[in-house]
Amino acid sequence: MGETVKILTASGQQIAVAAYSPNSQIRARVWTFKQDEVVDEGFFRRRLAAAIKRREALLNDPQRTGCRIVYAEADELPGLIVDRYGDFLVCQFLCAGVELWKETIVAQLRDLLPCKGIYERSEAAVRAREGLEPTQGLLWGEEPPELVEINERGRLYGVSIAHGHKTGFYLDQYDNRELVRSLSKGRRVLNCFAYTGGFGIAALQGGASHVLNVDSSGPSLALAAANFARNGFTPEQFSNREANVFELLREFKQSQELFDLIVLDPPKFAETKAQFKRAARAYKDIAMQAAALLSPGGLLVSFSCSGAIDLPLFQKITADGVLDAGRHGQIIHYMHQAQDHPVGLPFPESLYLKGLVCMLD
Ligand code: SAH
Repeated sequence: MGETVKILTASGQQIAVAAYSPNSQIRARVWTFKQDEVVDEGFFRRRLAAAIKRREALLNDPQRTGCRIVYAEADELPGLIVDRYGDFLVCQFLCAGVELWKETIVAQLRDLLPCKGIYERSEAAVRAREGLEPTQGLLWGEEPPELVEINERGRLYGVSIAHGHKTGFYLDQYDNRELVRSLSKGRRVLNCFAYTGGFGIAALQGGASHVLNVDSSGPSLALAAANFARNGFTPEQFSNREANVFELLREFKQSQELFDLIVLDPPKFAETKAQFKRAARAYKDIAMQAAALLSPGGLLVSFSCSGAIDLPLFQKITADGVLDAGRHGQIIHYMHQAQDHPVGLPFPESLYLKGLVCMLD
């Protein structure tokens, strides 16, 4: 499994060299279209070095100590994710090809990016579709501490490499946290699907008058509280509410609670095209409920990370929700995933995160 194979046309002409994955619907993932390129240690070194080089400016930025280093197909390394949090690297090996080359990849990473330890978080469900077991643990070096601190434009976040979502943090929202910071001055903020407080801390940094974080996960909110304290914010400036966003938004409507900025950053509602309708209904529902809670001039900051829902559709769903709440407004910003999550030109599907900032009348 994961062996290097040649892809031939019916007439026997070679078109690519790929990793074979007999259990997956995607039977082979292309390593290279070059006729004479050999897939060996040197190949992985070149691809990893290129990914690092592309991010040179980001990696040298002391105010960006959390950064994605390798983003799978977009960096021509299908199935491989590498994120850096301070002195530690966290990897996901998500398909048979990179699984087979794991040792080589780890050895090259150690050499190219000096770090204290390399940790694996390959428990994503996609591995099952490749016939791979979920796996997690130290690959090399020191075990990371329970929380690794990253600095993001002066904001400090504790990241749990072993227990956090994905590899620990939502690095893809970097630019969007900056945007929320710039829009927050004097605003009362409702941060829905808050996780460890990413947007909430950015809002307070930008001068929000108060932030209410909502998440259904108690442990995530506990980490959020620790992160607010880490940044010197006091309990008067924020509060946490463990609740289901769908229910809480309705409760707030009953009690006529108003906010000046609401962030909706839900988990992926649609994993596949099949879940598409249910997901569309869920996005519309929260947009509609949130719109009803915004003060005049209020901002709705709404995201979808479902690859199956593209921007034009997301915009229509959001517009429907806002209009059904009896509100009007404009889109003042379009948002996407940060530049360390690039979109490969021949792989437009790697654009998955999209968001809108709407200002409501
Ligand atoms: N905005 C965050 C990331 C959000 S991830 C950041 O920038 O870091 C999605 C979060 O939604 C998770 O923390 C998960 O616990 C939470 N969640 C999922 N379904 C929920 C629901 N119905 N109500 C409240 N929170 C929910």
